Amino acid sequence: MVVGDVTTAVDVLVLGAGPGGYVAAIRAAQLGHHVTLIDQGPPGGTCLNRGCIPLKALLTSTERYQQSGQEELAAMGISATSVSFDWPKMQAWKQSVVDRLADGVRRLIAGNRIEYVFGTGWFINNHEVRVEGEHGSHRFKFEHCILAVGADAAPHPQLPFAGKEVLTPEQALLLSELPPALSVFGDDYIALELATIFARLGVKVQLLVPAEHILAGFDPAALRLVQASLRKLGIQVVTRASAEAATDRPLVVSHGVTPHTAGLHLDATDVQCAVNGGIAVNNMQQSSVPHIYAVGDCTGGRALASIAIKQAKVAAEVASGQRVQFAPLVTPLIVHTTPEIATVGYTAEEAAQAGYTISTGRFPFAANGRALTLGADNGVAMIVANAEDGLILGATLVGPHAGDLIGQVTLAIEMGATLTDLTEILYAHPTLSETLQESAENALGKAIHMLAKT
Ligand SMILES: Cc1cc2nc3c(=O)[nH]c(=O)nc-3n(C[C@H](O)[C@H](O)[C@H](O)COP(=O)(O)OP(=O)(O)OC[C@H]3O[C@@H](n4cnc5c(N)ncnc54)[C@H](O)[C@@H]3O)c2cc1C
Repeated sequence: MVVGDVTTAVDVLVLGAGPGGYVAAIRAAQLGHHVTLIDQGPPGGTCLNRGCIPLKALLTSTERYQQSGQEELAAMGISATSVSFDWPKMQAWKQSVVDRLADGVRRLIAGNRIEYVFGTGWFINNHEVRVEGEHGSHRFKFEHCILAVGADAAPHPQLPFAGKEVLTPEQALLLSELPPALSVFGDDYIALELATIFARLGVKVQLLVPAEHILAGFDPAALRLVQASLRKLGIQVVTRASAEAATDRPLVVSHGVTPHTAGLHLDATDVQCAVNGGIAVNNMQQSSVPHIYAVGDCTGGRALASIAIKQAKVAAEVASGQRVQFAPLVTPLIVHTTPEIATVGYTAEEAAQAGYTISTGRFPFAANGRALTLGADNGVAMIVANAEDGLILGATLVGPHAGDLIGQVTLAIEMGATLTDLTEILYAHPTLSETLQESAENALGKAIHMLAKT
């Protein structure tokens, strides 16, 4: 590496090493490029270090703790009379999961011969980036640049983030001590999952939902099951909550994200931003400067690691001359409450609004052998298809491992599968995936383990 103002020529320069950045870097390296990956922090970005993974780890430990005190365990013949929890140890376990995954990502970066540079980057012009890091200032001239700089928690205009009083979701996951009470303002999956974690540990949680319902757009019948479980946890849900009502502290605000474009000096380039503040891209992830790509949260699209990862592969492949596009038919969404809720494609209401004549099927987890052997029968599989040809349009699953099961429906929709396709394949038994088959059979009036619709 050259220090000072001497320019280093690089092939593919990736700015940001979150799921968008490190995946783009690896795919570009797999395709034969020499890749330089720049981040001011460790690899993994928000998802691995501060978001998805820490949140899911704490959901797991708190769920285990909660289940250990349940009557269901006694019914199975297990008595757990003196179960307690240790919040700092839970935090330490969460961190060990993060560290293990981060270590794996570091090995992948090194194994793919990607040069990792610690530093903050910004543009000098359409072909050069300056990086300021612990080893001084470096100037890189690139053939292709992939921007994957992520987003920041968006402050609510009336509830600005403030120290230990008004927290971002990321800060809430780092609390060193549990407060006796906590409010969460928001109506997305992150708000629900955070409320769930703290309520499971006995914190008095108030969930202030600015919208008319939690999780707008999810199937109402599925939401009723989730709402009932939030009530069971003692979470006080207030819908149509105003910011003025959010007076209790600490308060966590989950109000979406703002693309992290500040400081990039985009004005030194011809890269354009969209109205939402994100970097405007076409469906090949190219910005208005075709050799500068943008992926993930910094594009201002839906802030999901799954989207960042797919866009990253597209950008690296397009940079390698492949004719590929980011064009998924559907995006699966999961909320890790108990029971879990997962949805993909249209709900029945959305499909009808889109002009389809629909056929629907449902199957309760309570009639599924595997769900009962897991002691987790609270749930339902609901499927929506086009009545004319049986083409699967969407599904909502509530129940254990709903988030893993939804991948099957995602594949079915992407492959243009029909209800008949789902009924004809052989499912292993006893498995939760049989709920999907039986919901498709129910839509066709022939589910075995429930009475046909009359
Ligand atoms: C609490 C929480 C829970 C979440 N849970 C889920 C979930 O369950 N499922 C899901 O799909 N998504 C989840 N998300 C969203 C997910 O984390 C993001 O969508 C994802 O991380 C976006 O990836 P990215 O690569 O675009 O950006 P990021 O992961 O944010 O990475 C951006 C990287 O760029 C670096 N960077 C920024 N500017 C510069 C610069 N100028 N120079 C050098 N480096 C720079 C940053 O240091 C960072 O490492 C969650 C988010 C949060 C906050």
